[in-house]
Amino acid sequence: MSSPKPFQTFCQWWWGQLRAKWLLYIVLAITTLTLCVTFQSPISRTAQAFVRGPVAYSGLTARLNQLSSLANQAWANQLELLAQQAEAMNFTVPEHFRGKTIRSVPLPSGRKVIALTFDDGPLDPYTNDILYILENNDVKATFFLIGRSVQAFPNRAKHIQMKGHALANHSWSHPYAQQSPAGAAAQIDNTDTWIKQTTGFTPTLFRPPGGILNNGMAGYAAQKGQVVVMWSADSKDYYASAPNIIKRVMAEASPGGIVLFHDGGGNRSQTVLALPFIIKQLREQGYEFVTVPELLKLYEEEVKAINAAKAAETAKAAEAVQASPPAQPPPTLGY
Ligand SMILES: [Zn+2]
Repeated sequence: MSSPKPFQTFCQWWWGQLRAKWLLYIVLAITTLTLCVTFQSPISRTAQAFVRGPVAYSGLTARLNQLSSLANQAWANQLELLAQQAEAMNFTVPEHFRGKTIRSVPLPSGRKVIALTFDDGPLDPYTNDILYILENNDVKATFFLIGRSVQAFPNRAKHIQMKGHALANHSWSHPYAQQSPAGAAAQIDNTDTWIKQTTGFTPTLFRPPGGILNNGMAGYAAQKGQVVVMWSADSKDYYASAPNIIKRVMAEASPGGIVLFHDGGGNRSQTVLALPFIIKQLREQGYEFVTVPELLKLYEEEVKAINAAKAAETAKAAEAVQASPPAQPPPTLGY
């Protein structure tokens, strides 16, 4: 008996592999890979060619045009998003509150809203720490900025705005002494100008340094149409320890309340330490966090709704009186 020829042996092996199917899978994989490489997105190939340096092949210009159109679309989307954000951050205040002084604004419905406010910043690391905590807890707050600190740390002021918090005026250099009319105007106007130049936003709220209402600045701000914002809960974080800050805020929190904290003006590490606990505990008590402009808008909306309901009721009553038939004599049993 003669031994099988080598070709015959190979053919038998090949057939065996095919029957075992694994070779078939390899062929399928190679085909898929070749198809992927051949038909991969022209955009990604163009981009790769572009970053690797000049490459000459037909159709490059057409693909670059495609790339540019995609890039333009992406930028247009980004601009649209920024415009929407700017719209959402339009922290104007209702006319009714302009020139007034507020300490808290309880809503007629009793809804548990509260406004956290931070004074004397921006000052790192505290402002940045606080922004990080607020973002991670999905809380929006109001920052009363010192004009000269905005001038010193413009990027942090922009950062506050970017994260959707309300910006407000807390004077240029935080003076307590009596101001001349020109001095008060300079303290407030320069700060407004710097905030506007840095963020594009003109403040509508003013908080007097030290809460002093009679040294000329609050009067000037009110005359200018700004809302003078005081507070209903004082964390006393300028001297208290974190546990005491927490205790104090929880004791003084109220629906429609405005809570005073500081992110600038000194070491604010105790504020940073206390803040996550305060947010958690207030939330557990059912509080929603709002900015001061939002608080004022909510109040305005609720009052308008109440007035509209009252007006509708009065109109309905008037209509009912008109529509009712004249009084009839009582029916008699006539038999
Ligand atoms: Zn202050």
